[in-house]
Amino acid sequence: MAIKPQPQWQRRLASVLLWGATIYLLVNLLAPTLFGSQPPQVPYSLFIDQVEGDKVVSVYVGQNEIRYQLKPELGDEGKEKAADGQILRTTPIFDLELPKRLEAKGIEFAAAPPAKNSWFGTLLSWVIPPLIFVGIWSFFLNRNNNGAPGGALAFTKSKAKVYVEGDSTKVTFDDVAGVEEAKTELSEVVDFLKFPQRYTALGAKIPKGVLLVGPPGTGKTLLAKAAAGEAGVPFFIISGSEFVELFVGAGAARVRDLFEQAKKQAPCIVFIDELDAIGKSRASGGLMGGNDEREQTLNQLLTEMDGFSAAGATVIVLAATNRPETLDPALLRPGRFDRQVLVDRPDLAGRLKILEIYAKKIKLDNEVELKNIATRTPGFAGADLANLVNEAALLAARNKQNSVTEADFREAIERVVAGLEKKSRVLSDKEKKIVAYHEVGHALVGAVMPGGGQVAKISIVPRGMAALGYTLQMPTEDRFLLNESELRDQIATLLGGRAAEEIVFDSITTGAANDLQRATDLAEQMVTTYGMSKVLGPLAYDKGQQNNFLGQGMGNPRRMVSDDTAKEIDLEVKEIVEQGHNQALAILDHNRDLLEAIAEKILEKEVIEGEELNQFLGQVQAPATVAV
Ligand code: ADP
Ligand code: MG
Ligand code: ZN
Repeated sequence: MAIKPQPQWQRRLASVLLWGATIYLLVNLLAPTLFGSQPPQVPYSLFIDQVEGDKVVSVYVGQNEIRYQLKPELGDEGKEKAADGQILRTTPIFDLELPKRLEAKGIEFAAAPPAKNSWFGTLLSWVIPPLIFVGIWSFFLNRNNNGAPGGALAFTKSKAKVYVEGDSTKVTFDDVAGVEEAKTELSEVVDFLKFPQRYTALGAKIPKGVLLVGPPGTGKTLLAKAAAGEAGVPFFIISGSEFVELFVGAGAARVRDLFEQAKKQAPCIVFIDELDAIGKSRASGGLMGGNDEREQTLNQLLTEMDGFSAAGATVIVLAATNRPETLDPALLRPGRFDRQVLVDRPDLAGRLKILEIYAKKIKLDNEVELKNIATRTPGFAGADLANLVNEAALLAARNKQNSVTEADFREAIERVVAGLEKKSRVLSDKEKKIVAYHEVGHALVGAVMPGGGQVAKISIVPRGMAALGYTLQMPTEDRFLLNESELRDQIATLLGGRAAEEIVFDSITTGAANDLQRATDLAEQMVTTYGMSKVLGPLAYDKGQQNNFLGQGMGNPRRMVSDDTAKEIDLEVKEIVEQGHNQALAILDHNRDLLEAIAEKILEKEVIEGEELNQFLGQVQAPATVAV
């Protein structure tokens, strides 16, 4: 990427001054010896001899040096051969008699004359040392800068790197694959940047901030660059972690400066990578005293984001994070990063597309089926796949092959997986099968008991921090009130995963822990918060939402209840969960064939959604024992 020239006059000035100073110093130090302008040095005793011998005309006595001039030597005809006699110098010794001697001989003497160019020299001697200091300082700052513009003397200038349209290496949406939803969302941003009038004419406000959320290596940075590339606008990129190493106050100054530059170049995109490094919730640092620098930087960022709509400049701020939960809520308010785009690990089709992009860059053997490689790499992010292709090419090169074969890919997968296992989960075939049945279990129970919403997607691509697979239920409408039977539906659906494992594998894995937690929580709330238990009646057994002194929820504490009541609550909660469990088992038993069919399909495709899913779920039948 070409780096656009920044205002660099400070830098030029500094280097000109530095060079000037260096040359001046060199000339002053070396010139006398180099060009021999120093008079010859003689011993003090010779000097005294010459004084006594009436050979000296004049003497200048300096602190470290005595310079004196000899009488002109007489020529043959008694005429002066030269106008001036030779000048010599000697090093003085402590000699109080000297003035008397010189006076006795009638020799002119004086203190040494002041140095030539005195005012200039003095000036430089004051100016040069600070300049050298400044030079060294900015040299180190520059090195931190990785050569980015805005170096010497521009200490608080933004480190933002600018990429501009027209680069030969311009990134576009074609270079990003497997994150279609994110691309759709961002093409809207591109549209805003290209045709702002279209939106402003209708009185629509252009969004300011879009937050890209997703695990590392899924292409968030790449997407942001591609958005700028598509819109053909300048792209400012700065990383949140760069702010953290700064001195107090410099981070805020840098944010201010960044936005100043951006406004000048509007329309443009400002991209803040690793937003969580500055945007950590201020409350989370509470007791530790927080981090002043980060807080100031964050506040400045918020101020800037609130400010620039007034200026009417089309600056869109994109930011990326893989830890959205740690972000300060103030960042997510309307008018700031109010749009959030999920950039997730790619599914099978997405992985294939990404592999195709990178396979174009290597010499691929004709036999290679990229589909097979995509199938073997669930859980890989875009960066992992790019790395995989490169590993395979390296292996082929090491074996002195002419092209990269599927065997190379297979070995490369093993290498990459070994590296990944620590970072994320890559499922074994057995685990994948369990996850598939588990998720289909959720989906089938959810289809029969739709209190939790319509099942919209089943996926066994590992996502997020905890889920190995997931079943997505979309609420059919916005709900603020749920009735008892809907809550029971939800509990049964949550238990559907575990029920499927029980039925198919006759064993239970640890994978359902989160489901059980949520189901039990729901059941407990039904009993203690919503008064839905017939046995315990319409009483609230908890004390409502309470916050601790930091403003964080601490869960609902129980009211003081008798031991008997506590026992009854426990029994009632257990009863509700058990009932949901039994319902789930009954539904899955009744639809065993469908369970197998969908599970098989999902093992093949990893994701089922849309029409295909509807067709499957349309065949589901409710067993007679389950009241729908
Ligand atoms: P993130 O910012 O989400 O951590 P990056 O955008 O830095 O990820 O991705 C690192 C590299 O991995 C990219 O430069 C690109 O080469 C590759 N990559 C990641 N995701 C994708 C994708 N969806 N499509 C194509 N390449 C990708
Ligand atoms: Mg990144
Ligand atoms: Zn589950």
